[in-house]
Amino acid sequence: MHKYSDALSSISNKASLFETDQEMDGFLKEAISPLMEQSGASLGAIFGYDESTRELVLRAGYDSGDYWDSMRCGKNKMPLRFALDDSELGRAFRDDSVRIISYKEEDKSPFRTKILIPVVRGPEKLGVLMLAHQSPGAFSREDTADLRKAASLLGDMLAEATAFIVPAEKGASVPVPRSRVIRGLKASAGIAQGTALPVWSDIDSVADTIASSGSVDGEMELFEKALELSSSQLEKIQKSTSFTDTEMISLIFTAQLYMLKDNSFLEKMRKGIRDGRSAAASVREVIQSYADRFASMSEARLAEKAQDVRDLGYRILSNMARPDKAGFSYNDKIVLSRHIYPSDLFRLAVEGVAGVVLRGAGVTAHISILARSLSVPVLITDDKSLLNVPEGLPLLLDATSGKLYIRPDDKIRAAILDKEKRKLRTQGSYILKGHLSDGEPVSVHANINILKDAEDAKREGAEGIGLYRSEFPFILKNDFLSEEQQYRLYRSIVESQSGKPVTLRTADIGGDKLLQGRSEAESNPFLGVRGIRFSLANREMFHDQLRAMLRAGAGADLGIMFPMVSGVEELLQAREELEFCMKQLEERGDPFNARPRVGAMVELPSAAMAAGELAEYSDFLSIGSNDLTMYLLAVDRTNENLSHLYRSHHPTVLKVLASIMEEAGDKADQISVCGDIASDPLLVPVLVGMGIRKLSVAPSRVDAVKQRLMQFSLNEVEDISREILSIKRLDEMDRYMKSLQERYPLA
Ligand code: PEP
Ligand code: MG
Repeated sequence: MHKYSDALSSISNKASLFETDQEMDGFLKEAISPLMEQSGASLGAIFGYDESTRELVLRAGYDSGDYWDSMRCGKNKMPLRFALDDSELGRAFRDDSVRIISYKEEDKSPFRTKILIPVVRGPEKLGVLMLAHQSPGAFSREDTADLRKAASLLGDMLAEATAFIVPAEKGASVPVPRSRVIRGLKASAGIAQGTALPVWSDIDSVADTIASSGSVDGEMELFEKALELSSSQLEKIQKSTSFTDTEMISLIFTAQLYMLKDNSFLEKMRKGIRDGRSAAASVREVIQSYADRFASMSEARLAEKAQDVRDLGYRILSNMARPDKAGFSYNDKIVLSRHIYPSDLFRLAVEGVAGVVLRGAGVTAHISILARSLSVPVLITDDKSLLNVPEGLPLLLDATSGKLYIRPDDKIRAAILDKEKRKLRTQGSYILKGHLSDGEPVSVHANINILKDAEDAKREGAEGIGLYRSEFPFILKNDFLSEEQQYRLYRSIVESQSGKPVTLRTADIGGDKLLQGRSEAESNPFLGVRGIRFSLANREMFHDQLRAMLRAGAGADLGIMFPMVSGVEELLQAREELEFCMKQLEERGDPFNARPRVGAMVELPSAAMAAGELAEYSDFLSIGSNDLTMYLLAVDRTNENLSHLYRSHHPTVLKVLASIMEEAGDKADQISVCGDIASDPLLVPVLVGMGIRKLSVAPSRVDAVKQRLMQFSLNEVEDISREILSIKRLDEMDRYMKSLQERYPLA
């Protein structure tokens, strides 16, 4: 009865499978061919609508003869384009009506009948299906009705499976994203639903979208409204109670709020409007001139302010572009960007962004670490088609599996969201203290990066804070913090733990965590002034930090730990500085912790070799396996191209861990692990078998690690670590790890 739609239904199940352009083209051809067969047409084609040029563009066609060439699109594969307003094809699309065109002999057309059927999905127009026949009157009225049904079925398949036609970026030569899935690498796991917000668009392109009212009064009103909206948004963010890093929020947003209160800055914009410029042009001009002025400053920290100015300009203009809504918001947006600064990421998280996709950028370890703390899923991709994803397109980001779904269909959405739901742990199932199945205690602490983590750690049942990466506020501010600012931050962390031990690490600046204007350019920053070297080279900053830590730890179980220590000399120098700061505080009469536990990170091969010596001069040691792996294997932990070589279960790495324990002798019980391996379910038993009794992991992993510990007895972990240490080769280790997983499957 419905011959065309029946023919088409037979291929409908294939629509959700294709992920590449070729597969998509293949699918389209497969869709056309049964329609041509049923109708006896000699040529079939599908055109998609390109909003940016208001044209219909040939997407795929099927040619039973050489008509294609006669249509000038075969040889050089130039897409055929038809303008919306002056072509039959365009009219069929525009008016959403089926058009049948008959040709006479004398028309010299290879066809006698052509039918044009709009491809729609609900109210959304996607393109036009064309069938051309050599016989006159080839399509009956019944055919027409059925072809419409078939076209709307095709529309459903296309829209669910892919972004069928997406407007090309102006001047872009990359193809429109037709694939349903864009693949990439996870920088921070998680699932996010939302609509696309490409931020390749700079303030210029936002300004271009703003229509001018044509009158000075109208423009002034538009400007003042946008200004008001921007101020109230920034004030709301500052007062945000849902985000606990109030100190960081004020560090990051205050500069912008000040600018919004700076009359001479605003007056310049108003003057531009009074002089007859549109509100958008005037804002753009003033923002640009301020940003340029900052950018040209030789003091790098001031140059950095250019970004703040541009950011504010972007906010004002975006609010202008949406005057009738609640204003611009990152809520439920998946931001697509080329590059992101830690402060941008923080800003986006505070403003409720759903996820971030970065195109091609190498991501610093700290962006990933911060994104995880902020619970923002982040994906990095090389896929050029990302550049053409337009604003507002529905997206589903599954950063955990390294996929970005464009216009996900309900099936995919349900499957992914369900997977995520199943992973959510039922609340209230904590084990208070970590232990093995036979009761042997192994304490599980938390690694934290921002204040919010400290609360998560407590909620997740961490037995204390094993590592606070204190460089984060510095990186977010891109500058040093005053003693007072640091004190307030550290005190909040200490207080959040209600008496549990808190270990604050002094700033690990350097490597990939540079402060513009404070860090020297180095050709090998990972081998340069990093961690304790940076602190010892910037004594004042080091003293500010140590005093802030000592004061924050008054009356608490405080640990102070030094990063990137290469040997006992650096540890002793750092201890001297600590003593000096205690004396200063005594003189000042400020309350402080006079007996903090003092420790060093073991994350350099030289420190690993000197673990015994380091243990003698410290109260505890913490193994930073992330860096230790990098320096032992000479594999940059931030280089995605080398990720296959970055193996923390490499026999050499595990052998070095065992030797650290041996070197430490009777102080081995003071050694913890705070690198990522501490939460690796396959390595947890290995570490405990080596004698480690304290693990420090991300707050979200605390409970899982405690559960994992309970799967092993002391005898079992000791056997495992003995077996592991007899393995010399990586392939053998891989096999062993696989067998371990089979013997002790994850709960
Ligand atoms: C490590 O290197 O293992 C570590 C915990 O420190 P970070 O990841 O901050 O360098
Ligand atoms: Mg480290």
